[in-house]
Amino acid sequence: MTRYLILILICLSTPIFAQQDSAHLTATIIGSGSPKFNTERSGPSVLISYQDTRILVDMGNGTQANLNANNTKIKDLDALLFTHHHLDHNEEFTPIFIQALLGGSDVSISGPAPTTTMVHNILTTYKDDINYRLSKSGRNLKTAIKHVTTTNLKGGESFYVGDVKITCTPVHHTITTLAYRFDVNNESIVISGDLTYSETLPILAKNADYLIMDSGGTIKMGAKARPNKKPNNNTATERAHVNLSESSQMAAEAQVKNLILTHFNFTDIDEEATETEIRKNYSGTILFASDLMKIPLTENTSTTNAKTPQKVNSNTPPSFSQLLENMDTNNDQKISKTEAKGRLKSNFETRDKNNDGFLTEDEIKIKH
Ligand SMILES: [Zn+2]
Repeated sequence: MTRYLILILICLSTPIFAQQDSAHLTATIIGSGSPKFNTERSGPSVLISYQDTRILVDMGNGTQANLNANNTKIKDLDALLFTHHHLDHNEEFTPIFIQALLGGSDVSISGPAPTTTMVHNILTTYKDDINYRLSKSGRNLKTAIKHVTTTNLKGGESFYVGDVKITCTPVHHTITTLAYRFDVNNESIVISGDLTYSETLPILAKNADYLIMDSGGTIKMGAKARPNKKPNNNTATERAHVNLSESSQMAAEAQVKNLILTHFNFTDIDEEATETEIRKNYSGTILFASDLMKIPLTENTSTTNAKTPQKVNSNTPPSFSQLLENMDTNNDQKISKTEAKGRLKSNFETRDKNNDGFLTEDEIKIKH
């Protein structure tokens, strides 16, 4: 009897979509923004998940809030990776690292130099504070630090976190920057980091399912397309980011199935004009990242197109049924403020036209 009761409790406490999530290599866009503060887009960060493995790549402004909105606990993170040490990518590393340390689980921290120096400096600066907090549970920094491994990567390394194989390669940016590839079974996701055209990226991303790419050159609504210069006309010291010609060329060379643009410094993207430019080189699926977007977008294990997500418009929310699946914890077919996540939560009052404290399908369809 007890055995059945435990089984029932386990079944009840595990949402069906979470089981589907964990069965696949998944990327959650924690932040799709840039250094420019934007309430709709947190700073750059992507969570890679597979079963109970959690790898966080970059930690820009707003990462903690969106991890919370995604129901991801910092103590459950197994690895923290940096693409590079520009402030918009590592702004929330210090609090996340200290919380991971206090959480007591094993965590590995890797990225280009000076990753190890940065960790050392944080530990030196906050030593007394960390020791004080650890002392409450009878621990100290000397023993807690044994759960942390720190590595400077040069690019070219390959290693595992849980069952996830991670490979990295250097790409061109204003400082040393790494792109990462994540592989499990036959599923693969690549994160480009910030970059200009880099010969190394298509090699790393060859035949990947998803390439999460620097969105440089994306056209803003109402703006005219800037002329794309041919790749190799500019060196990394002249420019920090790709243009659409370069990003689409790298995606085409790599023959990736899905190209996801991220790292936007505005909200209103002219998706049609941007797509027209990308289509000159690349014929796969194009997606525009938004905060808390999960890739693959649609999990349907019974169909053969599980890896071909629906194209979404980043300026409108996903379908109402997708939102319910993700947020409606009490299954009342509407979303309360406590259930709402991300943009829906921050815009809740504006969307809740009749002020009844719930968002219904009609209210969510209204575009602001
Ligand atoms: Zn950068």
